[in-house]
Amino acid sequence: MDITTLDYIIKRLIQGSWVSGEEIAKELDISRTWVWNQINQLKVYGFEIRSSAKKGYKLISTPDVLFPSLIKSYLHTQYMGQHIYFFENLSSTQDKAKELAQKGAEQGSCVLCEFQDKGRGRRKRSWIHVPYKSIAISIILRPDVVPSQIMQIPIVIGVALCEAIRDHTSLSVELKWPNDLLVNGKKLAGILVEMAGDSEKTHYIIAGIGINVNLTEGDIPDDLKDIATSIFIETKKNIHRPKLIGCILNYIEKWYNTYLKKGFLPVRDKWLKYNCVIGKEIDVHLSDMTISAKAMDLDNLGNLIVLDKDKNTKTLMYGDISIRTKN
Ligand code: ATP
Repeated sequence: MDITTLDYIIKRLIQGSWVSGEEIAKELDISRTWVWNQINQLKVYGFEIRSSAKKGYKLISTPDVLFPSLIKSYLHTQYMGQHIYFFENLSSTQDKAKELAQKGAEQGSCVLCEFQDKGRGRRKRSWIHVPYKSIAISIILRPDVVPSQIMQIPIVIGVALCEAIRDHTSLSVELKWPNDLLVNGKKLAGILVEMAGDSEKTHYIIAGIGINVNLTEGDIPDDLKDIATSIFIETKKNIHRPKLIGCILNYIEKWYNTYLKKGFLPVRDKWLKYNCVIGKEIDVHLSDMTISAKAMDLDNLGNLIVLDKDKNTKTLMYGDISIRTKN
């Protein structure tokens, strides 16, 4: 598939008015027959395009495909998502984004794919991604932060993602420290933040997001059925993923800019509003044991403050927690 040519044609069609095959052919330095060919290819992908011998082509509706130009048509950002790299197959969007970041890709560049066979959560646990139904996106960030601030980033992304999905679907999405989005107690999306840097400076951060969008009950593996859900399962409505991705990138730029300009406190306030952890009895799963505690607060570095059963205050910088169903 020639994404570049298709991408360009989509960009022209999305502008809304009629565009002639001759015009596109000239702009791309290709033949009119090849334009016609590509238009037919877009129709195969589900783009509804009207043709007229006199006027050319006009876009009527768009399908659920992750073409960069289509996603960009929903953006009103300065830099977030302005460079989108889409691949049909990848090992993981995180790995590709790292490669691009090392080569100097700009802040806000995004990597998307349909198939990934090594999608992962924290500590290399695998993340289930269903092609054509899930969203896997990795975003390159270059904030001027020291490594001790790294836990602030999943909080920033979590707040943005929570607002975007609430806005787009009206689901009551909640945030579970440190990196999950839940609906009715089940995981709808996960965030994975990885960084490259030294003890003093962060070189780049890759914020990976996995969202269960149009998955049906049958798409969720049996061992995850009690803990995972999707937007479709919760709303019974199919979501147009390019539009949702556009909405998410708009919110991420908004909250990331707030974080860069005003610091972590406004983000923390919003996180406190949407979180489902503070005030709850939880189990904290450490590498060698599980302790019971009560979640008390989120500190200024994005760490979770808990009170253990001996009334000692502890600061969790990372880790797994589960909310106890019976208090
Ligand atoms: P926990 O969910 O236990 O708090 P976590 O949020 O850190 O841990 P991650 O390591 O980020 O989890 O994600 C991997 C885990 O999430 C897997 O071990 C599995 O339990 C679960 N999981 C994997 N794929 C999905 C998915 N598509 N939707 C929901 N949960 C998933």
